[in-house]
Amino acid sequence: MGTVVISVDAELGWGFYDLPTPPPDRLEAGRDGWRTLLDLFDHYRIPATWAVVGHLFLEGCDRTHPRHPLAGAWFERERTEWAHRPDLRFAPGLIQEIEAADVDHEIGCHTFSHVLFGDGTTSVEVARAELVAALEAAENAPVSAEMTSVVFPRNSVGHRDVLAELGFTCYRGVRPDTGSFGPKALRKMGTPPIVRPYIDEFGLVNVPASLYLFGFEGIARRLCEWVWDDPIVSRARAGVDAALREDGIFHVWLHPNNLTSDLDVERLRRIFGYIADRRERHGLRVATMAEVASAARTRSEPLVSGRS
Ligand SMILES: [Zn+2]
Ligand SMILES: [Zn+2]
Repeated sequence: MGTVVISVDAELGWGFYDLPTPPPDRLEAGRDGWRTLLDLFDHYRIPATWAVVGHLFLEGCDRTHPRHPLAGAWFERERTEWAHRPDLRFAPGLIQEIEAADVDHEIGCHTFSHVLFGDGTTSVEVARAELVAALEAAENAPVSAEMTSVVFPRNSVGHRDVLAELGFTCYRGVRPDTGSFGPKALRKMGTPPIVRPYIDEFGLVNVPASLYLFGFEGIARRLCEWVWDDPIVSRARAGVDAALREDGIFHVWLHPNNLTSDLDVERLRRIFGYIADRRERHGLRVATMAEVASAARTRSEPLVSGRS
């Protein structure tokens, strides 16, 4: 049958928080892109996993976060450059729009302030504080988000033991061929990997990524579009077909702030249209991370209990 999973890294300014000069077009595209994406998902009746940065659940903040181990320096941008940019730092309304959408999206966690978990300087205390703060922010917000899935900022996987300790049950892992030998550009051109979720050593379900829908940009993209077609659209279609053929999972991801032009929206229309068509005609499933994680857990239950 085959399944498509779409995860969305919903972060507004936080995705660029540690960058000295964030790309201005993407920084400003976050809010409109969020709503456009919700409309597209409704139009094609596609549910997704929205991994939301915890700080966005807040209505406001003191700009210091004194209980956070990184209080002070890490939140400086909130007190300076972004002091008058609440639109980059808060989004309870946009999160409510996810919940109010026609399709049944999952709301997941993208940490509290986009700290990179796999970075060697991120201590276990910082990781725990990031997740606890995100859970608290979600709990105090007027949405009923019970977050079980985690998407690591920049896919920098780390501190999985802390995820398990706090009750999270699944995360998006890196795509299986990351780090494999061969020119990156060539790997990018082939059919993206079909993935199989599995239970890791911490009891969490890893739902690895297959394809970043905006991982082929700049001059290379323009050249390809001019000579052939949008290369990501053809690769996404190949991935959907492979999922159907192999009865596996094709897991794509993107950010709302990737939607900086009409061409980007057109790319998604073509990909989502293809998914909707294959669902209609070939029984392709569209599921959230939590749904495929729970299916993987059920499938593996006898194995896990047999081992213990
Ligand atoms: Zn703040
Ligand atoms: Zn992110």
